[in-house]
Amino acid sequence: MQVQTTVDQEVKAFDCLHFINGQYVVSHNGKTFNNVNPANEEVLGQVSEGGKEEIDLAVAAAKKALNGPWKKMTLNDRIAVIRRIGDIILERKDELAKLESLDTGKPYWLASTIDIPRSAYNFHFFADYLRGLGTEAYQTDDVAINYAIRRPVGVVGLINPWNLPLLLLTWKLAPCLAAGNTTVIKPAELTPMTATLLGEICREAGVPDGVVNIVHGFGPDSAGSALTEHPDVDAISFTGETTTGKVIMKAAAQSLKKLSYELGGKNPNIIFADSDLDEVIETTLKSSFINQGEVCLCGSRIYVERPVYEQFVEKFVAKTKELVVGDPFDPKTKVGALIGEEHYSRVMSYVELAKEEGGQILTGGRRPEGLEKGFYLEPTIIAGLDRNCRVVQEEIFGPVVTVIPFDSEEEVIAQANDTHYGLSASIWTNDLRRAHRVAGQIEAGIIWVNTWFLRDLRTPFGGMKQSGIGREGGMHSFEFYSELTNICIKL
Ligand code: NAD
Repeated sequence: MQVQTTVDQEVKAFDCLHFINGQYVVSHNGKTFNNVNPANEEVLGQVSEGGKEEIDLAVAAAKKALNGPWKKMTLNDRIAVIRRIGDIILERKDELAKLESLDTGKPYWLASTIDIPRSAYNFHFFADYLRGLGTEAYQTDDVAINYAIRRPVGVVGLINPWNLPLLLLTWKLAPCLAAGNTTVIKPAELTPMTATLLGEICREAGVPDGVVNIVHGFGPDSAGSALTEHPDVDAISFTGETTTGKVIMKAAAQSLKKLSYELGGKNPNIIFADSDLDEVIETTLKSSFINQGEVCLCGSRIYVERPVYEQFVEKFVAKTKELVVGDPFDPKTKVGALIGEEHYSRVMSYVELAKEEGGQILTGGRRPEGLEKGFYLEPTIIAGLDRNCRVVQEEIFGPVVTVIPFDSEEEVIAQANDTHYGLSASIWTNDLRRAHRVAGQIEAGIIWVNTWFLRDLRTPFGGMKQSGIGREGGMHSFEFYSELTNICIKL
């Protein structure tokens, strides 16, 4: 299907097939489902619906490929192949960005400046990291020498969400390949297109057949559960909802798979009165509403110290009203469409719940005028809610934030930690001692001071409490995607 976008070129949406053992294939029973464009609710194409049969084929191919040419490749050759995947992604950046925008409803400029370049960088970064990777060695007096060797875990299942489809998939795939594993990928059912193209990109880069397999389908009773239950899958790296993580853990327990979890968040954004409010507001607009608020790291609970609360709210509401919501391919658009009908209804239900819980909608909370088709919602700011309200406690994953005043450091730390999530936090202050003091007490895996979403891929990334298990990034990714064997030699 040819889709005319408002950017200079057309892009071809396509039917998404599985990629198994180096070939694109349909499902054994021919089953497909619609891929819907969130911006206008039109069908972009058909997606092959995989199940146990396709997962069995993909896992068998991945298992066989573990001991094939991939294992025999020299370090230099493997690094070159992984780098080449990144190069091809950059060569096809515009096409991939348009497809990502069509699939997700996110602004095209966002896909082309963040999602796709970062996807390419994931391969470049982990390929380079691989060259310097070592292990440990210890001499035990004059008795023995111990050294560890690193080996792949085996067949790894990579299960992905829809909000940053290619970026998060490649964040897993790059270190997974660098560590020598083979893989079966289950992309999110709502965003299948860039994952589908990744199959041919890997093939062109020189990845041997069977090393990267991609099976489309749903989660429960479908491709997702078949992957997590499969006895020949050695590890699962999952990014998605906390509730899904709990289901996967049960399934994976049958064969005691290694698990890495990046789950939901309800992240505090803590603003002290001594911070530079204009800078705070500029970044808070992004940390609240970028990608339609559909980023696990978004700071959806905004706590503002009382002396500047009124001033902050007034400016923040005014700036939020200026954000253009609409056509993802219009360069003026700051907020695109939410991912789909079901998610849109869920986000809207939280807006209604906020009213029932006594909240005041300061701006937003409704579909923008003139946008009857597509899953659009005006960026929404809610005040007046108590810390125990469901809207303050539960992840909404949309352009909806709450603002709450606070009076002391102790109070805001207690409120920030008062949730079962622990993914990220932002702290705004010009007091260096306070920054250290507060950061040391917030229960989150990633904390930013006077910034947000500034990432160095060498650093540990992940959540505590019910926001995740394990860390990814740099060495931490290699820890997950490899097994260490200690060899002890008596001298
Ligand atoms: P989701 O949990 O509904 O789905 C994620 C993936 O899991 C999809 O591919 C889905 O098909 C699959 N799945 C669902 N049920 C399954 C099952 N029973 N067995 C196997 N696979 C199954 O999540 P979503 O709605 O796609 O994504 C949004 C969520 O992801 C939010 O909670 C968000 O916070 C989280 N997220 C976290 C991070 C992070 O780094 N911590 C990053 C992005 C998104």
